[in-house]
Amino acid sequence: MLTGKNFIGNKPAAKGNKKYRTFNPLLNLENETTFYEATPAEIDEAVALAQAAFGPYSRKSGSERAAFLRAIADEILALGEPLITTYCSETGLPEGRAKGERGRTMGQLKAFADLLEEGSWVGATIDRALPEREPIPKPDLRKVMVPLGPVVVFGASNFPFAFSTAGGDTASALAAGCPVLLKSHPMHAGTSEMVATAILKAAASTGMPNGVFSHLNSSGIEVGQQLARHEGIAAIGFTGSHRGGRALFDLAAKRKTPIPVFAEMGSINPVVFLPEALEEQGESWARNYAGSITLGSGQFCTNPGLLLGIADKGLDNFMKKLSSEILSIAPTSMLHPNIQGAFEKGKQAAAAQEQTKVLADYREEVEANFGRPLVLGVEGETFLANPALHQEVFGPFALVVKCRDKHQLQEILSALEGQLTGTIVGTQKELPAYTEVTEALKGRVGRLIFNGVPTGVEVTAAMQHGGPYPATTDSRFTSVGTHAINRWVRPVSFQDCPDNLLPDALKNANPLGILRMVDGEMTRSSL
Ligand code: NAP
Repeated sequence: MLTGKNFIGNKPAAKGNKKYRTFNPLLNLENETTFYEATPAEIDEAVALAQAAFGPYSRKSGSERAAFLRAIADEILALGEPLITTYCSETGLPEGRAKGERGRTMGQLKAFADLLEEGSWVGATIDRALPEREPIPKPDLRKVMVPLGPVVVFGASNFPFAFSTAGGDTASALAAGCPVLLKSHPMHAGTSEMVATAILKAAASTGMPNGVFSHLNSSGIEVGQQLARHEGIAAIGFTGSHRGGRALFDLAAKRKTPIPVFAEMGSINPVVFLPEALEEQGESWARNYAGSITLGSGQFCTNPGLLLGIADKGLDNFMKKLSSEILSIAPTSMLHPNIQGAFEKGKQAAAAQEQTKVLADYREEVEANFGRPLVLGVEGETFLANPALHQEVFGPFALVVKCRDKHQLQEILSALEGQLTGTIVGTQKELPAYTEVTEALKGRVGRLIFNGVPTGVEVTAAMQHGGPYPATTDSRFTSVGTHAINRWVRPVSFQDCPDNLLPDALKNANPLGILRMVDGEMTRSSL
């Protein structure tokens, strides 16, 4: 049963006057529950609780925190069908997607639990003393990662489970030992409230301190801004628009104590089609890409928005087939009228650019809030000269760029802004002749894909979901996969510290049995 209240630590709170409701895009109606935006005093209280919880929580062992994360996954599953129904009613996404995303979210939590139980992620590094060294003795130095402090996570509209309340940012921050203040996304506040109850139940059953998690509602940017400015906050995780991510990044930089903002702000995910691949399998690539462009109504940060090829017959055929395939796929609902409205505006702005050609434009009548796909074409010259064509159009949209030759293709790739992914489609035979093109693409992206589609992001340690700005604010980190934990920690060195005062990870006996770098070699041995 939804209450619409915030959770300040484990206490429900609804003192505010600002109220709002979520929206069912399929029914084109508001949902029932009224949500209460968090007040400035409630925000202060939540931050104070998180600060108080930080010490005790950060001192919990890896296995205790792992038990907490596993309990969250179990509690999410225990919410059963009502959670799935709420998710669908707030997003218009189908039940299969909701269940798949729930599984992924639980899988992420368990992956971080495994990481904590294994323990080596803390990067324990020991350089033993050399008291006899001349001309001066070398001290004993031991380094390990420690958590930053309370983290604010902004729920993402397009992944109500996997990038929201108990999603990758929350799971990785809790795993690192940081309390989390979740700024719920106003479009799925009910889903978020239910998942928040799962986290709070898990915290209580595994003995975590009150304040390890708070859940704050908002219908406007003020709550997020107060949180970003709050001196009690140590870092921010965000997934959403470039405008929002950049605003938070700038706010955080202007604080008395600047803090890191890990914002994932989207991407047009360039895909390069090489001539031989199109000649041999152009039709099947066109089918694959029609599916990838329209998947989830194009509402993925890895949606392929920019397709590039070298002008020839193979590319022309591919463009024709892609257009007919796109038009044969029935449009689906977008997440919210605002997102659908932004999509329509984005399409119009792109189509209004000079010398663009419509390749596929779905014109048939659709229900309210559905996203009708658009594919445009343009010559390489025009694309290079017009930065407006490089903008993300969030939804089922793609721009096909016809390059004059390999050199122009390379020139375009080198001129692109930073991207999450870049894909190259080519035969084994032709790929070696395009190493410069591949290198140019690698220079602009966080993940380089060969002969595939960018949609679909595996949650593994080797995944990189983050790229050069403006795809993300810090390309050195990922927001997907277990390495995402590295965003919420910092290294501390202990010099000549007595063994009994060292963290367990650095003690001579290696009581955690973790893999450590000792005098330049990886080992699990004790000293
Ligand atoms: P958004 O507008 O960036 O909002 C995301 C979250 O950030 C919301 O909770 C929002 O708060 C908050 N926020 C936005 N601007 C802020 C600011 N200046 N200061 C403080 N907080 C701020 O994204 P959205 O609502 O999810 O969708 C809008 C558009 O973002 C989409 O149409 C799409 O273009 C883009 N988007 C991209 C991706 C991607 O992965 N590339 C994902 C989702 C969305 P309030 O809502 O409470 O105002």
